[in-house]
Amino acid sequence: MVMDILQDHSREPLRASLIQQLNAYSQNEDEFLRHVDYLAGTQGEKIYPVLLSIFSQLDFKEDEARLIWQDLVQHRQQMAASMARPVNLTTAICDYMLTVRKELIHPKVVELNLFEETTHYCKCDRLTGLYNRSYFDEALKSEASRCKRYKTEFSLVFFDLDRFKRINDTLGHQAGDMVLKSVAKLIQSEKRAEDIAFRFGGEEIILILPGTPKYNALILAERIRHKIEYMNLSFEGEKVDVTVAGGVVTFPLDTDIETEMVECADRALYRAKSQGRNQIVLFSEDKRHNYRVGLIGPIKVQELGMKTNQLPSLGRIKDLSLSGVLFELQKPIDTGSRIQVEVPLSSRDKPLVMVGRVTRLQTSGSFYEVGATFLHFGEQDRADISKHFTSLLHMASAAR
Ligand code: GH3
Ligand code: MG
Ligand code: MG
Repeated sequence: MVMDILQDHSREPLRASLIQQLNAYSQNEDEFLRHVDYLAGTQGEKIYPVLLSIFSQLDFKEDEARLIWQDLVQHRQQMAASMARPVNLTTAICDYMLTVRKELIHPKVVELNLFEETTHYCKCDRLTGLYNRSYFDEALKSEASRCKRYKTEFSLVFFDLDRFKRINDTLGHQAGDMVLKSVAKLIQSEKRAEDIAFRFGGEEIILILPGTPKYNALILAERIRHKIEYMNLSFEGEKVDVTVAGGVVTFPLDTDIETEMVECADRALYRAKSQGRNQIVLFSEDKRHNYRVGLIGPIKVQELGMKTNQLPSLGRIKDLSLSGVLFELQKPIDTGSRIQVEVPLSSRDKPLVMVGRVTRLQTSGSFYEVGATFLHFGEQDRADISKHFTSLLHMASAAR
């Protein structure tokens, strides 16, 4: 049992409907209990943890929750018999959790509807009504663990409004807010019920798409992009043109570490922006289309996450791009290992430091050829690195 303010999002509709029923039957709780039995027959045991969470904010597994619910319905009858008067459900649950199960120590009396409203706003963004960033972290974790457990996949789409600052600057902040609300509403209406939409940052919206392969995610993201482009918005009589760019990443195809998903989607998004905005880019596409520079020279390679801090190994770089690196090393590194790669640029510049994951390992004569995909770029700004790449690219083509 754990305290769980941020509930499993897939239970949200059931939770809302149970609260509605509870309000409807507030004067007749026996009728509510009959409704619970009916729901258990049609929807199964999943209703029990939701019920207990509504009344106590405690989280139980389904089978345990069913037993507790049956036990506490009986407890309510016993209380009523010994007190010779009706006992309401909340009182019975409170007494049961305090004296029988001892899960509660100091329960606080609070109006249920007020509590629900407050917790709703803990998870949601007030302007757009979408879930907020802190709930995103929870939902991402729970979706990834569900995928690992059931060996399925999910995709994530990272939308960012194009030139949004310009809308604020020319038409004012209120116009910007109106655009954000309209885009959020459109995304809510286009997505499936099981998809979850979050306001991730100012004008950034993320969609988590459970059970969705990459190309289906692309189709949905494209449809949303297209509908936003033709939304026909106006503010105080002025037409407002809105477009979005988006990046798509799929778990576990692109990465099986959920905390890397936003980073990957952001890289695809960066590409969508640099290619002219108003488009969706897949993370894998991002990998293929990057600048690639044939470089020969020494690099330092450090394996991360090792128990003992090993010294960096010296390797020879063969090929470098914004999304990955190919190099030769004297000793092998397992695929999947996280590494830090330091590429010296010139005596004037600081070296490029990138963190990545080994995706390929093969022997090449007396060496090992190692391919790694980058995850992030140390302290440096991506735009800065992009500038370095452009100049490296010019140098390489001038030398040919
Ligand atoms: P790009 O196409 O590269 O994404 O350009 P951009 O102008 O959208 O990007 P930038 O990140 O420079 O601007 C984001 C702007 O979003 C800046 C900020 O003032 C605005 N913004 C963030 N949150 C809100 C909000 O709640 N309401 C309004 N009206 N504006 C917001
Ligand atoms: Mg942005
Ligand atoms: Mg933007």
